[in-house]
Amino acid sequence: MSQPLALTARLLRGLLATAALCSATVAFAQNGKTEVLWLGQAATRITTPTGKVIMIDPWLVSNPKTPANFKTLDALGKVDLILVTHAHFDHFADAPALALMHKAPMYGPAGMNQTVSTLGILPAELAPRFGKGGTIMPFGPTGVKITAVRAEHSSELAYKNPATGKDEVHVGGEPVGFILEMENGFKIWHMGDTGVFGDMYRPDLVLIPIGGHFVMNPKDAAMAVRDMIKPKFALPIHYGTTPVLRGTPAEFQTALGTAPGTARMLVGEPGQKFDF
Ligand SMILES: [Zn+2]
Repeated sequence: MSQPLALTARLLRGLLATAALCSATVAFAQNGKTEVLWLGQAATRITTPTGKVIMIDPWLVSNPKTPANFKTLDALGKVDLILVTHAHFDHFADAPALALMHKAPMYGPAGMNQTVSTLGILPAELAPRFGKGGTIMPFGPTGVKITAVRAEHSSELAYKNPATGKDEVHVGGEPVGFILEMENGFKIWHMGDTGVFGDMYRPDLVLIPIGGHFVMNPKDAAMAVRDMIKPKFALPIHYGTTPVLRGTPAEFQTALGTAPGTARMLVGEPGQKFDF
């Protein structure tokens, strides 16, 4: 008689533990999901499960692929933090204006932000220095974790000197990509502009440049996703804005294939939202 009772007690404990786990999951789901809004080229707005809004590489106002309803910076709504992978115009363009508008810090390569504050583009408190290999938790110890990682590219900062009206080129630090670990552990790797390199990371979602010429072409990107990164989802970015960025999502999908275990390619026009 005592054995079935003990068994029942163990079963009950098991059930209770499962219930506790489920309710924890449910409670978290109620807090929201991770929302990814791609806006053309590398511009991406990420809303975290607790509602923080992070804008990466905001080139919107003059980006030919940004949907018309996102061509004014107001359209983004609140922005808590800005991330810039490198100083090139198609990543950096609207970042200082957004930082000033929301009094939100613009994190980017240390050398880029040094130049930004020295030239007076942003006050130093809105251009904190941060660099490749470093991790920040800007919303506190339970918030999103952001790590700057390697990218194979360059990062000159082109600048029109308002005093002379002349074009200047300044040091822009080392280009980076960003790995963002959400409050619930979901990991996104925004690669920035990069070619393939050896030590690739393993996020749940990768935003991967496929345009070619300056960055990976669709075949390189597919190889990196299939054989090295192995994420659950891949969102192709950085194509179609200028004639040299001629790689297409269709070429990427063909090269990626659909073998079991291969990442699911997310197909979207700029302006489409994805929830995770
Ligand atoms: Zn670029």
